[in-house]
Amino acid sequence: MKSEFGQYVGRVAPTPTGYMHLGHACTFLEAQRRARAAGGKLLLRIEDLDQARCKAEFVDALEEDLAWAGLRWEPEVLRQSERLSWFREALGRLREAGAVYPCSCSRKDVAEAIRAPHVEGQEPVYPGTCRERRFVFGTEADALAINWRFRVPDGEAIAFVDGRMGEQRFVAGEDFGDFLVWRKDGFPSYELAVVADDLAQGVTEVVRGEDLLASTARQLLLYRALGEKAPDFFHCPLILDTEGRRLAKRAGSLGLRELRARGTKPEDLLSLAGRT
Ligand code: GLU
Repeated sequence: MKSEFGQYVGRVAPTPTGYMHLGHACTFLEAQRRARAAGGKLLLRIEDLDQARCKAEFVDALEEDLAWAGLRWEPEVLRQSERLSWFREALGRLREAGAVYPCSCSRKDVAEAIRAPHVEGQEPVYPGTCRERRFVFGTEADALAINWRFRVPDGEAIAFVDGRMGEQRFVAGEDFGDFLVWRKDGFPSYELAVVADDLAQGVTEVVRGEDLLASTARQLLLYRALGEKAPDFFHCPLILDTEGRRLAKRAGSLGLRELRARGTKPEDLLSLAGRT
C-alpha cells in the first residue's frame, strides 16, 4: 500500500528490553526488503514505554547490532517514551468516540472472574465486569490515572488479508476480548501506542512477527474507532531454537552479539535461519 503521496513507508519497532537476536534480524531485514522493493523508506521506532524493563544500554546495542546485520533506516528515530502527549490525544479520541470505558479490574479480578480455561500464553477474554461503567466526574489528570479498556464488537469477525499468510479471521469476544488501551500508571498499552505511532508516521505496511497476528485484529478495531485507514500487514514466521521454542530475549547462541563474536558474516544471517 502507498501513502497519500504515493510512497511506501515501512517501519521496524523493537522493544529495548534485551538484546536483538536472529529472529529480529530476519523480520527486520524482510521489512527492509519490502520497503526497498516498493521504492519506499524504512523507519526505526524504539518502543521503550516499559520504564522498568527498557534500558538505554539495550537501545545503543540494538542500533549497533541491527546496523551490523545490514539494516539501514531513516535518520530520524522515534522513541515512544517521548510521545506521551500524542498517546493521550489518541486516548481522548477513543473516549470521545465512546469506544472505551474505565476499568477497575486487576489482573487477579479478571483471572478470578473467568471460569473457562484459556489457551496458555493468550490473554483471557475479559468477562465484561466494567463494561457499563462511565467516567462521569473527574479531571483530565484523573482520567489518565485509570485503566481504560476498548469495547470489542462481540461476535463480529475481523478479517484481513495478510501479505504473507493470506486471509485471516478473528472473532471479537471469542478469540480476544475487551483489551486495555491505557493503564493507570499513565501509559498507553502496546496496542494503542503502536496504532497511534503507525498513524503518526504514515506507515503504509506493517511487517512484524507472526506472534502479533491476533493483535492485528485488535488494532484494526482501533483504526476503525479512530476513523482512520489501516495500513497493510505482513507477518513473518518466527525463528525457533533447536528445541523448537521461539527465541526469547535471551537467545544465547542466536543473539546477534554472539553470532558476530563467533565470526558469523551478516550476509549469512538469513541462510542461518533457513530463509534463503
Ligand atoms: N515492539 C513490538 C515488539 O518488539 C513490535 C511492535 C510491532 O511491530 O507492532 O514485539
